[in-house]
Amino acid sequence: MRYLITGGAGFIGGHLTERLLRDGHEVVVIDNFSTGSRENLQTAEALAAGRLRVIEADVVSSAELLDREIRETDRVIHLAAAVGVELVIHDPVRTITTNVHGTENVLVPAARYGKRTIIASTSEVYGKSTKPFFAESDDLLIGNPLHARWSYACSKLLDEFFLMAHHRQSGLPGTVVRFFNTVGPRQTGRYGMVIPRFVEKALRGEPLPVYGSGRQTRCFCHVFDVVRALLLLADRPESCGGIYNIGSHHHISIGELARFVITRTGSQSEIRHIPYDEAYEKGFEDMMHRAPDTTALRELTGWDPEFSLENIIDDVVLEQQRRG
Ligand code: UDP
Repeated sequence: MRYLITGGAGFIGGHLTERLLRDGHEVVVIDNFSTGSRENLQTAEALAAGRLRVIEADVVSSAELLDREIRETDRVIHLAAAVGVELVIHDPVRTITTNVHGTENVLVPAARYGKRTIIASTSEVYGKSTKPFFAESDDLLIGNPLHARWSYACSKLLDEFFLMAHHRQSGLPGTVVRFFNTVGPRQTGRYGMVIPRFVEKALRGEPLPVYGSGRQTRCFCHVFDVVRALLLLADRPESCGGIYNIGSHHHISIGELARFVITRTGSQSEIRHIPYDEAYEKGFEDMMHRAPDTTALRELTGWDPEFSLENIIDDVVLEQQRRG
């Protein structure tokens, strides 16, 4: 089959491309290389044997290109998006433009040609909800527009409504996935992600910056598990018109995570607490707990995560050591 992957040179996109090529498919990647990189596609390129085409283009300004490519493809996986809390806060205009217009430029031709489409959303849409596990049918509690952080959740939520609208009005065979914290080799800490950052600092013997009290919790899922979930969903027509959480169930506080990374790497690093105001922006609102209910995904596909937090940290450490 031919897959079109927007954001295919990103962290998740690179792994997805690789997996599809290993499974014998053809892949067209569209990426503007703003947060993605050629490096993320190196392994994919090595095993492609003519089955990978990489197009450098921005989904916001490439409506015609997307129309042409989507017409010729079997499946579309739309991952191109503004990524990382830091980038969202520092460039909220780009965040909204990319997430809204970019997705529109994908969904319109996907609906016109009736292509199987999956778009990436985010656990950020659950906002300030305090439930122990977030389910897809939950009401959402997003913070107010005076905080740039929430522009990400809001723009992604609009993408979800957009896909549902096309599904209802023209039968677009589309599915929304909400990624929870996804981690693994090649993820960069440049855009704020905590695990690659902690590992990098631990390996250098530098202090690990824990924001806020460190009591906030997250569930970290290996990118290999996330890619597997995506492809299982793509194969299930019953998932059309649906929303699915993808994430791990194992939660850990950020303070514990810092201690765990230090122990696992045998590092002498200390932990340094940094107030949110200093780390992000004044009045920054973090989510205290974020864990997915993945019943819907499991019941439809049988999926459960296979990789533990130990596996994740070890993979990230190995990869960072290899790069030096
Ligand atoms: N965090 C931290 N130190 C860092 C980066 C992040 O303590 O260097 C915290 C962040 O405030 C959040 C958690 O780690 O509570 C996860 O952050 P990340 O940006 O990886 O993902 P998020 O869950 O915020 O989308």
